[in-house]
Amino acid sequence: MQDLYHYIDGTRTAGTSGRFADVFNPATGEVQARVPLASAAEMARAVEVAARAQPAWGAVNPQRRARVMMRFVDLLNRDIDKLAEALSREHGKTLPDAAGDVQRGLEVVEYCIGAPQMLKGEFTDSAGPGIDMYSMRQPLGVTAGITPFNFPAMIPMWMFAPAIASGNAFILKPSERDPSVPLMLAELIEEAGLPKGILQVVNGDKEAVDAIIDHPVIQSIGFVGSTPIAEYIYGRGCSNGKRVQCFGGAKNHMIVMPDADMDQAADALIGAGYGAAGERCMAISVAVPVGDETADRLIEKLVPRIEKLKVGPYTSGKDVDYGPVVTAAAKANILRLVESGVAAGAKLVVDGRNFSLQGYEKGFFVGPHLFDHVTPDMEIYRKEIFGPVLSTVRAKSYEDALKLAMDHEYGNGTAIFTRDGDTARDFASRINIGMVGINVPIPVPLAYHTFGGWKKSAFGDLNQHGPDAFRFYTRTKTITSRWPSGIKEGSAFSIPVME
Ligand code: NAD
Repeated sequence: MQDLYHYIDGTRTAGTSGRFADVFNPATGEVQARVPLASAAEMARAVEVAARAQPAWGAVNPQRRARVMMRFVDLLNRDIDKLAEALSREHGKTLPDAAGDVQRGLEVVEYCIGAPQMLKGEFTDSAGPGIDMYSMRQPLGVTAGITPFNFPAMIPMWMFAPAIASGNAFILKPSERDPSVPLMLAELIEEAGLPKGILQVVNGDKEAVDAIIDHPVIQSIGFVGSTPIAEYIYGRGCSNGKRVQCFGGAKNHMIVMPDADMDQAADALIGAGYGAAGERCMAISVAVPVGDETADRLIEKLVPRIEKLKVGPYTSGKDVDYGPVVTAAAKANILRLVESGVAAGAKLVVDGRNFSLQGYEKGFFVGPHLFDHVTPDMEIYRKEIFGPVLSTVRAKSYEDALKLAMDHEYGNGTAIFTRDGDTARDFASRINIGMVGINVPIPVPLAYHTFGGWKKSAFGDLNQHGPDAFRFYTRTKTITSRWPSGIKEGSAFSIPVME
């Protein structure tokens, strides 16, 4: 069994806390590595290194920083298969899906090649007599990010690429369930020319996270994970005076109107509901057909498609639609929630409870489930299941469907399937959810737009990637300058105003 490490000051560094977490191969259920869990002292050492390295990096001109991003993109492309394999081995997702995880991170790195443009300030010539006014965007200093297990390549890159391109040092605390790819990324970006100490990976659990939140030198925290932890980090981080953005859980509804192309809607639901075993914050977990007739037609189309889904290990190649869930605990939680749905009276139309895969009996595989007649009071509707379980809530009308999605506490993503432009437009305008798809089931914005939910799915003012990322990782300074030719005699005692 392999012992993993931290990546501090450009060096693979063994943990010294004496605490470790097991890293599983979810397909076999075997422990394949141990990851060290950092103490506050180990985190403090990384912060010290970052604080020492950052001023020189912050002073490097933005174009040179962008060139590191450019080379990093090349190296990511060179190593994408290797990264995808390491990712699948710890996470369980299929190889094409793992390559997509790397690719969606890489696209944000590509966007960050435009850092010189994004970091440009503003200038007003002759704002007053002999007065020029200009603003500049400066790095924050030492920044940190805490990431979830479900996108171990993409989400770290969403955070560290704009942070570093903006001139900050960044400390990444990845998920302890799949830490290998984040460690590989840190070495890869140094191969691209990043100085040591600018990107460090410190593995850990709550102790390492609390050390980040409470360290006075760390200026900002990015978090992606479940809502209770997002709320905790946001509250404590803000009260410590840090800039914090936290992205939480989701329960994404897909509304299917009677005029929708039912084959398209069913295909979309299969990919969005069961892809990555449902372990995506943008997965569709609730189908909302409008009218009983639509619901019956939809279910009729879904069932044979679900029954054909191929569940297996990533090593089976492209023949597999989705793999295992991440841990035995995740599997147990999903199956418990399925039981609660059955007990509450929802109709289990496709029952994956007894799913077992020959040769992989100890793997964390969960068969696909489809519920019909789910109601908003049920636990399977209220809670994020994060597994291959699709719930159908039948709505009487478009207004009922809209209200249902609007009343849910989460507001990450949503979709509507319809051929009616008016309905689609009304939905996009009125829905209180951050990312909306119209005949698109997983509306994940591209790198140059921003990503973020509403309500209990996000805490903080700015979104991830796109222009918001450069705003989050810089502070604005505004300078007013006047030269002697513009200076009139005497002192002014009232607030200066332009005449
Ligand atoms: P999680 O909240 O369990 O863990 C996320 C991070 O927080 C990890 O690094 C973990 O080590 C740390 N952590 C866990 N418990 C902690 C504690 N008590 N105190 C401090 N830190 C703690 O989430 P997860 O299971 O890794 O990821 C799945 C969740 O992430 C889902 O809820 C999913 O919807 C959400 N997610 C959201 C987005 C988004 O953009 N909104 C994207 C991806 C995932």
